[in-house]
Amino acid sequence: MHGSLARKLRIYGYDVIYDTKLGDKDLLNKAAEEDRWLLTSDRSLYLTALKRGVKVCLLLGGDDASRAAEVFRKIGIEPPTLKPEASRCPVCNGLLQICNPEEVRVKRKPKSTSYRCIVCGKLYWIGSHWPRIMSFDRRIRQLLKGRYSRRNGYG
Ligand SMILES: [Zn+2]
Repeated sequence: MHGSLARKLRIYGYDVIYDTKLGDKDLLNKAAEEDRWLLTSDRSLYLTALKRGVKVCLLLGGDDASRAAEVFRKIGIEPPTLKPEASRCPVCNGLLQICNPEEVRVKRKPKSTSYRCIVCGKLYWIGSHWPRIMSFDRRIRQLLKGRYSRRNGYG
């Protein structure tokens, strides 16, 4: 349900598990055992997590930027600066490593730095998708700033 949000949080470098095969009980156990935040829109799961003492964030926002802003607000951190070298693979959550330019031939931007997922092998580089990611980042920061300035009277 929140696969798109999971992919975006991985781009920020967060270790995000997204597995639609896990049931509520498995999600709660995994979050508790691995000291992870559980992100959910399911009120029942949210309440159960609270009762069990699992760190949980109820996502009520209508789009990924709103949901990501809720996550950062709930956890109490600023979104980190987007850096490809600090990102995780949006597809599989694997770490990325810089590729040797001679190892990889990237058609559109032959001189840009490339990154390869150490788990699935997918290649990444700063290309046409990057402005959309930066736009997403700006939207999150605007949402966070708007909320803080309304609540605290500054900004
Ligand atoms: Zn991967």
